[in-house]
Amino acid sequence: MYEECGIFGIYPKDLKTNIAQLSYLGLLALQHRGQESAGIAVGSRKNILIYRDLGLVAEVFKKDILSTLNGDIAIGHVRYSPKDSNSWENSQPILQQFAGGSFALAFNGNVINKSELSSVLARCGKNFNGSLTDSRLICRLIEATKEKDLEKAVQKAVKQIKGAFCLVILSEDKLIGLRDAHGFHPLVLGKIKDGYVLASEDSAFSIIEAQYIREVQPGEMVIIEKNDFKTKQVFPSTRKSLCIFEYVYFARPDSNVFGENVAEIRERIGARLAIEQPANADIVISVPDSGRFAALGYAHQAGITYQEGLMKNPYISRTFIQPDQALREYSVKIKLSAITSIVAGKRIVMVDDSIVRGTTSRKLVKLLKRSGAKEVHVRISSPPVNFPCQYGTNTPDREELWTNRFSIEKLRQWIEADSLSYISLEGLTGVFQKNKPADFCTACFCGRYPL
Ligand code: AMP
Repeated sequence: MYEECGIFGIYPKDLKTNIAQLSYLGLLALQHRGQESAGIAVGSRKNILIYRDLGLVAEVFKKDILSTLNGDIAIGHVRYSPKDSNSWENSQPILQQFAGGSFALAFNGNVINKSELSSVLARCGKNFNGSLTDSRLICRLIEATKEKDLEKAVQKAVKQIKGAFCLVILSEDKLIGLRDAHGFHPLVLGKIKDGYVLASEDSAFSIIEAQYIREVQPGEMVIIEKNDFKTKQVFPSTRKSLCIFEYVYFARPDSNVFGENVAEIRERIGARLAIEQPANADIVISVPDSGRFAALGYAHQAGITYQEGLMKNPYISRTFIQPDQALREYSVKIKLSAITSIVAGKRIVMVDDSIVRGTTSRKLVKLLKRSGAKEVHVRISSPPVNFPCQYGTNTPDREELWTNRFSIEKLRQWIEADSLSYISLEGLTGVFQKNKPADFCTACFCGRYPL
């Protein structure tokens, strides 16, 4: 079950700080990573308290709830669930007993050897009713180690897992952060007052005035205790497989992911796209917000004016949240509208980050043409998504991925664009300064799965 999510953890040593409120702010800054459910767990010497529910962070946490969440350490979670798995039971963090007491856990990623691990647990006498989410599975694996020491229990458990995972775990006196050996998804470490913060992205740091320290390294576990900060390499550092889709779509532009700023990378991708796939046009527009920085880069490189030709209703959450195709099509219309006076009579380059099912591009080309656009040239700042992600990003099955079934020309006809083209994989992986092309997982584009 794919769980592309946002995770957060905080252990300040100044106990006057209201950690539930800081976690709330951190989660607000990670909201783009998941809008289905939100939760915060707080730990103190006495107990662990968790509050989680379906909805956006601001809907779930009212002032009176935050004020009841008192403790010394906190973790938080926002969840982006796949179709049909949006239920309260699947929200996080979750609480688990183990030989040494109890802990709460929040997870981002996807376990690929889940059925194998479930059978191992079943053989230990642990049977489950219904499906087991990846996060629950990891909790049960930790419990099944029978270790009293949480660090040792976590290490033993995660060594059995194949897949992509970032974890934050709290006990009554410890905060643990961990990233899988390949480092598919980001997890960063920051400093606040005398303590530390962990988050999927550092956009969660600036909001609480925490300072970025560094990334948690692939395979590294960080353990934050009251008077101590330790780090352990749990997995040997093998080949990195950084998720390139974090840059294409998922992460926030102001975040620094895998050491490089997302907005800058998107602008460079856009510039590269303009070199590879030029178009004769009067203006460049973006599909807001996902295509904005790539469109800016494209316009700058091509020497064509950038304009905001489409307007997004900021109160409608992401398209993919709609459970079926009929509703999804409707939601594109309520989410985006054209600014007629800008687009009418123009030859337009419309830049978006990706085409998955093609619904968004098809609706937008129609909308622009109905608003008087003379030509619409669609430019995509990632290569065709041909393969489903196995490591956490919510992508449909192969049959639903357009470019897997049809040619680009067929897709162009279906979306009724005057031209359609994508950046090449080499172009995309070539724009980075700190990471080499081989450091990335590009399985959704090329089908070479690192695990
Ligand atoms: P589609 O309409 O199915 O072709 O989806 C493409 C649109 O969805 C683009 O505007 C993307 O910004 C956005 N998108 C791409 N990947 C995802 C994802 N994993 N979850 C939600 N939205 C996505």
